[in-house]
This record gives sequence, C-alpha cells and structure tokens, in this order.
Amino acid sequence: MLSQEITKRWLDYFEGQGHTVVPSASLISSQPGAMFTIAGMVPFIPYFLGQETAPYRRATSIQKCIRTLDIDEVGKTARHGTFFQMAGNFSFGDYFKERAIPMAWELLTSPLEKGGFGLDPERLWVTVYEGDEESYTLWKDTVGVPAERIQRMGRDENYWDTGQPGPAGPDSEIFYDRGPRYGREGGPAVDDDRYIEIWNLVFMQYQRGEGSGKDYEILGDLPEQNIDTGLGVERLAMLLQGVENFYETDQVRPVLDKAAELSGKRYHGSEKPGEEGYDDDVRMRVVADHVRSSLMLIADGVSPSNEGRGYILRRLLRRAIRAMRLMGVTEPCLPVLLPASRDAMRGVYPYVAEDFERISRIAYAEERAFLKTIESGTSRLNEAVAGARRQGQAVSGAEAFALHDTYGFPIDLTLEMAAEAGVAVDETAFRGLMEEQRRRAQQDARAKKGAHADLSVFRRLVDEGGSVFTGYTRLGQETVL
Ligand code: ATP
Ligand code: MG
Ligand code: MG
Ligand code: MG
Repeated sequence: MLSQEITKRWLDYFEGQGHTVVPSASLISSQPGAMFTIAGMVPFIPYFLGQETAPYRRATSIQKCIRTLDIDEVGKTARHGTFFQMAGNFSFGDYFKERAIPMAWELLTSPLEKGGFGLDPERLWVTVYEGDEESYTLWKDTVGVPAERIQRMGRDENYWDTGQPGPAGPDSEIFYDRGPRYGREGGPAVDDDRYIEIWNLVFMQYQRGEGSGKDYEILGDLPEQNIDTGLGVERLAMLLQGVENFYETDQVRPVLDKAAELSGKRYHGSEKPGEEGYDDDVRMRVVADHVRSSLMLIADGVSPSNEGRGYILRRLLRRAIRAMRLMGVTEPCLPVLLPASRDAMRGVYPYVAEDFERISRIAYAEERAFLKTIESGTSRLNEAVAGARRQGQAVSGAEAFALHDTYGFPIDLTLEMAAEAGVAVDETAFRGLMEEQRRRAQQDARAKKGAHADLSVFRRLVDEGGSVFTGYTRLGQETVL
C-alpha cells in the first residue's frame, strides 16, 4: 500500500467517524519560539490550551513534520526521519479514551477490504501509564488485547505535559512486533527496532502544577478532556510495504536508489555496524532522508542561511552532499537527487513539482557554494591535520576558528574530517573563540544605537548546538543540529 493510499484511508476512516479533515499546516511552526512543526497537534495548540475555541469538536489531519532532534538517528535506526508525516485524530472536549482506543484498534486491524490497515492483532503491543487503570481496562476488556501484551510504564515514558503549568495527562502507545529476526523478546520496554512504535494516543485530562521535568503535582481535572493522537505514516508504510525501514518506503526509496546509482555503490540493506556495506548504507539512507527534508523545507519557504531555520536547511543539504562525497561523488549531486525526491512526493504534494524551478534553483546554488567552500578549506585543513599529527597534538581551536571564520568551513566538517584522519580537534578552545567573537559583535551592535541582539539568541543556540525552548515537553524536542 502506497503512502498516498495510507493517508487517504486514514482521513476517510476518521471523516466517517465525524471528524473534520484539516489540511496540513506549514512546516514553519505557528508557535512563537519554535522553528518547525514537530507534531500533528501543533496547529491545534490554541484549542488545547483553551486560548481559542475550536471550530469543530473532532478533527483529523496528515501533518508534515520536521524533527531535527532525530537527526543522529537517521539512517541508523529503522524508523526515524527528519521529515515525516504524522497522521492524527483530535477531540476538543468531545470523545475521550473510551472512543479513541477502540477506534485506533479498529482502523489498524480491520481488513483491507473494509477500509482498515489489516495489521495482525497478534503482533500489536500497547503501553499505558501505570496509574491509568481506565486505559488498561479499555485495552484489555473492551478491545481484548491479552494482558501479556499490555505494558505499564512510568511517567517518563507515558505521560504528556507542556513543560509548565497547564494541561497534562497519560498517554498510551501502540507498537508492532516485527519478530525475532529484529531483536530480543520482551515487548516495547526492551526499546529496540524489533517493536516499532507506530501510534501515540495522548489523553489530556489533568491540570499540572509547578515543577520541573516530570516532577510536578497534579492539581485536579481539566474542565474539558481532549484527545491528541499521532501515527507515523512512514512507519505504517514500512510495515504495509514489507520493507525493512523508513528509507525503503515508496516516498523515500527512489532517492536512495539514485544515490546508489550515482556513487556506483550497492545498497545492502544492512542494519548493524560491522555488517557488509553498513557505512555506505547509512550514508544512502541519510541522503534519501535529508534530500527529501530539504525539498519540503524549501517548498515551505525556507532558504539556506546561517541562522535559525535556514541554518537547519543548510546543514541538511550539506550533510547529504557530504555523505555523497564520502561515497566518492565530488560532482554536484542534487541535480540528480532532488528531481527523484520531487517525483516521489508530487503525488501527495503537487506543489513541489509546480514550484520546482524555484526550489531547485535555491538547492543547486547552495550545493555549488558548498563545493567551493570545501575546495578552498580542505587543503588548509589537510595542512593543519598533518601538522597536528606530526606533533602528536590536536588541531588547535585557533586553526578550527580560522577555517570557520575565513574559509566558511563549518566546524562539524572540521571535526568529521579530522576524525577520519584520526586526529582530534580542540573544540573547547574553538567554542571559546566563537564566544569571544560573539561578545565583540554584541558590543559593537550595542554601540550602534538602535541595534538589537534579536537574532543573536538563535545564533547562539545554533552555534552551541543547544536546544530551542518551545515551552512544550513533547514539543520541546526541537534541537538544532
Ligand atoms: P520514537 O520513540 O520512535 O522516537 P516518539 O515517541 O518520539 O517516537 P511521538 O512523539 O510519540 O514519537 O510521535 C508520534 C508518532 O510519530 C510516533 O509514534 C511515530 O509513529 C511518529 N514519529 C515520531 N518521530 C518520528 C520520526 N523521526 N520519523 C518518523 N516517524 C516519527
Ligand atoms: Mg522520538
Ligand atoms: Mg517513543
Ligand atoms: Mg511516542
């Protein structure tokens, strides 16, 4: 079943259950302080917080999401992309657990010819919050999941809140067991790629008080109970298409194949370090993921830059290009990879094809600029690495800073290339120099009347690789690369 068919079935099912179909919002987050839309519920936050009244009581959507937090997982786990689509159903003071749980089960397990996804019920496991007897009973008695396949988890795993006083509540997740070939037995608690998390159901029912992390008191019930759920379309696609991972699904795989073709490498589909072809397989999966994310980001109005969203996009494009280089491709590769991604996505998102002239112009210019940067920086870095090796030392912070400042050679590239040559980099000293430069720039800015350090907040977070505050725990996953 193609991804497009999955999303159609999803929307049809929930529309049939009285939900209003709401189109995806932009990848650019509507939430102040947050860069990207990282979950299906983001566009509905004002309703969940009671700031606005929802124009419907039930809604369903397929939301485009970007999660930069997952970047290091990409290509290595079977299930993480930086761009993915979250299918969701939402209730604003309407139905609660007693409907949300049976509906989820019905949609997943109903036969294909009845509009469901036809998953084998015996392979599904669920987790519930240990204090949420209601959900436990609904799964066990109403739905009929055997007790052995229901796991109770603590607040860290199965509790949702906003990171501050406001709505909170337990959640319940549905996992699919891919079988013994993929890892140890023992259910989702084992936490590997054998049990794939496909759907998270959040039950907003309590008012939380002050406190940090998961350490807070529950003050009482919310006046209205809400439902927020999210299922990863690509994860369901990988199960229904009988492929091994996210990157082999119909909307992603064509780019992976092009990366293999361009580099002359064979894709082995290996999953563990040490297996034949693993390093190149990871690279091809990274390329497939990052090219698609870049396509979707540019389509939504992001351009490469040194700040905020543009910086994330720049990093995604450069990581893809770098991965291709590590497979021996030194010529521009986006003119081959980007059209492949466009063709894989245009069925669901026709605008990526309609707007491709503009999108590709931005992407190709970034690649050309990056290849120039690499060219001029590489010889200088090679000298620094050779010098450091002779003296049995790390590449100095000053050297790394000069590469960054004069050649525009990104620090991550310096780190990666030095590591490949077996030489360390004095990153602490580099960060110190960056900080110094920033302080000087701020002083200069302050000296100029009316100048504000408004963007410097983002800039600092970007440079430090820290996380961007979003005000939400589940949403607060947004980190810079
Ligand atoms: P995981 O534990 O696998 O990282 P999660 O608990 O972080 O997932 P949720 O925040 O609960 O994910 O998001 C709801 C659903 O969205 C998940 O159950 C999953 O199907 C999907 N999803 C989340 N992150 C990703 C991702 N990076 N790539 C693809 N799908 C994702
Ligand atoms: Mg996650
Ligand atoms: Mg999870
Ligand atoms: Mg989850």
